[in-house]
Amino acid sequence: MSKILFATSEAHPLIKTGGLADVSSALPIALKTLRCDIRIILPAYAEALKNIKRLKTVANIILPGLPGYVEILQGKLPNSNIKVLFVQYEPAFKRPGNPYTDAQGNPWADNAERFSLFCRAVTEVAQNRVGLNWQPDVIHCNDWQTGLVPALLSLEQTRPATLFTIHNLAYQGLFPHATFQALGLPPSLWSHNALEFHQQLSFIKGGLIFADQINTVSPRYAEEIKTAEFGYGLEGLLKHRQSALTGIVNGIDDKLWNPATDPHIHKHYDSQHLTDKSDNKDYIQAAFKLPIDKSKLLLGFIGRLVEQKGIDLILSLLTQIEQLPIQLIVLGSGDTLFETQLKTLAIKFPRQFNCKIGYDETLAHQIEAGADALLMPSRFEPCGLNQLYSLHYGTVPIVHHVGGLADTVIDANDKTLALNQATGIVFKQPTNTALLMAVNRTIALFANQHTWKKIMRNGMNSRFNWRKSALQYIKLYKTALASVAKI
Ligand code: ADP
Repeated sequence: MSKILFATSEAHPLIKTGGLADVSSALPIALKTLRCDIRIILPAYAEALKNIKRLKTVANIILPGLPGYVEILQGKLPNSNIKVLFVQYEPAFKRPGNPYTDAQGNPWADNAERFSLFCRAVTEVAQNRVGLNWQPDVIHCNDWQTGLVPALLSLEQTRPATLFTIHNLAYQGLFPHATFQALGLPPSLWSHNALEFHQQLSFIKGGLIFADQINTVSPRYAEEIKTAEFGYGLEGLLKHRQSALTGIVNGIDDKLWNPATDPHIHKHYDSQHLTDKSDNKDYIQAAFKLPIDKSKLLLGFIGRLVEQKGIDLILSLLTQIEQLPIQLIVLGSGDTLFETQLKTLAIKFPRQFNCKIGYDETLAHQIEAGADALLMPSRFEPCGLNQLYSLHYGTVPIVHHVGGLADTVIDANDKTLALNQATGIVFKQPTNTALLMAVNRTIALFANQHTWKKIMRNGMNSRFNWRKSALQYIKLYKTALASVAKI
């Protein structure tokens, strides 16, 4: 089967800020099971290297304009047989913390330099010019940090096929024109048919213009980004490329996210033993210092505290929490203003609301296991993983009808309840009123435990496995390869 080089800026469990990391390990693992010869390539962040046991230098590259060598290190993705190539250039990647921001949450000032260096190194590996004796057939690029790879490859006489996956169009890698010049990129790439976007350098355009195939992480998001509402000014370009643009929904890594085996959770359970789930509810209520009360509907939220995720809607819901028979727990980090407002409300409503500000993998699993329902009022959502995890954990998702949320959750209405297909609560508009109505509908459904358990079981029985999605990716690789053969 094809040789795939999977280029990404994060991969679980090496380094993670969001869903991209989950996809960047689970998809390669699924592809490997389907006999693809796949290698991941990642910047050698200090944090990521900590988790690698045996690491060896396999190549040294000289990149134009860069003093010294860029090293290619090789290790294995933990708990797998997948080779990971790390691009090491210490001034760029040997620093603490987040791949994209400093401890205060400000983007690293040299992000353009860091990720263009990464893209140049990926291009060298892709062209088999670093002495690895391994020529990939397809380079699978992910998000703006890898966007220059298809652009640079387009300048080569012969090259592998390219697929560019958009995990979130809101993040585009935009920099001033001066940065384009400072990076020493070929002048031919400065054009509105290439990397220029309103006089700025756009990394993501490198993927959107030059990749042989483009996909997003859900079919609905692939449609939405062709509209002005979700396209960020790129909708015209995406419409132009629509014959090469598809959507493939993400899956769940069942080894990591499975309530019957999850090492992080208090008590294991499955769809036949739902009473054991309620022990997890007691546990998480206690962990969040809320009254332990099985009869209260417990809502959870896990995620980045940014506008995309509809945090303002959650804050508005909180102002009315005393009128509602619910408790709410939030785990997340992000915008300082949201963090502060949530902490203040936790002090105001200690019997009904609490939050943990920060990133905590174990707690995320415990919330999925312990909450009755999971809130995802995102204003846009390319795929969303938490609603998939919550379906799997019998934690009923309450979602805005957008992107991957609309593609994966079936609203509990008269028809779907009668057909026993309902898996969650879906609301149409991202407004305070619509969210409040959805929560009231959830309260009513929860009051009828017979119906509620049916919804839980439907969710637990829905299958979002990576094998299915990986097969679709293999098809896409073949389409990309066929289009290169025609060049
Ligand atoms: P996005 O990629 O937009 O952040 P997704 O729903 O696709 O959103 O994926 C988010 C992933 O990150 C999930 O695996 C979720 O559990 C995890 N996550 C987000 N915030 C936190 C946090 N504060 N602590 C632990 N895990 C988190």
